[in-house]
Amino acid sequence: MPTYEFRCRACGSTFDVQRPMSEASAPASCPDGHADTVKLLSMAGLSSGATAPQGGGGGGGCCGGGCCG
Ligand SMILES: [Zn+2]
Repeated sequence: MPTYEFRCRACGSTFDVQRPMSEASAPASCPDGHADTVKLLSMAGLSSGATAPQGGGGGGGCCGGGCCG
């Protein structure tokens, strides 16, 4: 579950909220109970892994005919 960073405009503190992406834009209350918060653009908690495609191979095929030995 991604982590979103919020900042409270009442007390100025920042805090993290874990929530599903479908509720990313939902309002959040600060730990002190203030409701006047704004969501910060943060990539915290987001990680993406790229998988390199496996390819290649092939070959000469010389060894199949006995010409290598
Ligand atoms: Zn606050």
